[in-house]
Amino acid sequence: MTTASSLPPWGPRERVALAPLTTLELGGPARYLAEAEDQGTIVDALRWAAGLGLPVTVLGGGSNVVVADGGVDGLVLRIGLRGVAVERAADTALVTAAAGEPWDELVARCVDEGWAGLECLSGIPGTVGATPIQNVGAYGQDVAQTIERVRALDRRTCEATTLLPADLRFGYRSSALREQPERHVVLAVSFRLRVASAATVAYPELGRVLAAGRQPPTVAAVREAVLELRRGKSMVLDANDPNRRSAGSFFINPVLSAPELAALRERAAAGGITDEVPTFAADGDRCRIPAAWLIERAGFAKGHLSGRVGISTRHSLALVNRGGATADELLSLARHIAARVDERFGVRLRPEPVFLGFPAGNPLDP
Ligand SMILES: Cc1cc2nc3c(=O)[nH]c(=O)nc-3n(C[C@H](O)[C@H](O)[C@H](O)COP(=O)(O)OP(=O)(O)OC[C@H]3O[C@@H](n4cnc5c(N)ncnc54)[C@H](O)[C@@H]3O)c2cc1C
Repeated sequence: MTTASSLPPWGPRERVALAPLTTLELGGPARYLAEAEDQGTIVDALRWAAGLGLPVTVLGGGSNVVVADGGVDGLVLRIGLRGVAVERAADTALVTAAAGEPWDELVARCVDEGWAGLECLSGIPGTVGATPIQNVGAYGQDVAQTIERVRALDRRTCEATTLLPADLRFGYRSSALREQPERHVVLAVSFRLRVASAATVAYPELGRVLAAGRQPPTVAAVREAVLELRRGKSMVLDANDPNRRSAGSFFINPVLSAPELAALRERAAAGGITDEVPTFAADGDRCRIPAAWLIERAGFAKGHLSGRVGISTRHSLALVNRGGATADELLSLARHIAARVDERFGVRLRPEPVFLGFPAGNPLDP
């Protein structure tokens, strides 16, 4: 048995509270927690945990996780690798950032340089290394559009390897990395950005905000507009915002086939809903439905309260810890919302955050 006195020199600590390391600020402790600021520490940690038969969970900025009240067994490895390198070509810049770099600092730096490709992803919390996990996206951009390669550590061999877009299999809020979290630790991500390029604005809401300004907009103007829109939805972390304890959007926008969409339309009409179901194109003949539309029409308004948890007053997809809540309380509200949406529309919602310390399977299932 490992005791505190026999802990290895790279610094794992026992029973460390995880709530302060996450934006939801709830859940129990890690059995062991270590901060890794270099690749050697990650390798030492993986080998140590393997030797003791302990599971390893990787943590970045904690902005997309829900930690169980019982905490997380095994070793939680917090990735703090830093550094940014740039290779310039004629009209592009290949920006490689270490996994622990704060995401929005990287975006701000690229926007300052006038490089296009990440500007719509301004204001998203967390680290660079987490961005390929769920193919982080917002306002018509996602990282799959610019990621050229990911440097990762294979957890089985402890060897570094390069993953290309074909290996990463990006989809809407998904990737091979998210499907198999036990395979890799992301070490660095390389983004191919356009130099001296005008920004592309593909998102109607953003287009409207920018329409009054210069045409075509600069990447800096897009960043400012995105930050303004996000602030209005409490989607930028702000210590004074009562909606701040969230994981961003809690539910993924469901993707439906044509027959599923027809069935949804029928149920909505039968339920007396007169407005058209909004749709966005997805892959093939499938389309994406805003989960917010389903949630609101299932009877949950912004600001809905349920004890110490609730729905953000500014964004109906964000579930918030109003202070002192447990993960079970949050999950009960999430299940209640998902059950009502299912009952009313026959659509099963899926959660966007990653659940740590919970049993396998969809945590929204009753
Ligand atoms: C206010 C707010 C707004 C948000 N807005 C958006 C948005 O617009 N779009 C969007 O897509 N997301 C959004 N999010 C979610 C979140 O910020 C992103 O998913 C972000 O990329 C998570 O980064 P993180 O470092 O905090 O990851 P964490 O929450 O620490 O981890 C998330 C997952 O990634 C894994 N992971 C983290 N780092 C690594 C690594 N180096 N190697 C392997 N696995 C790793 C973890 O194991 C976990 O499974 C928002 C969250 C909040 C709180």
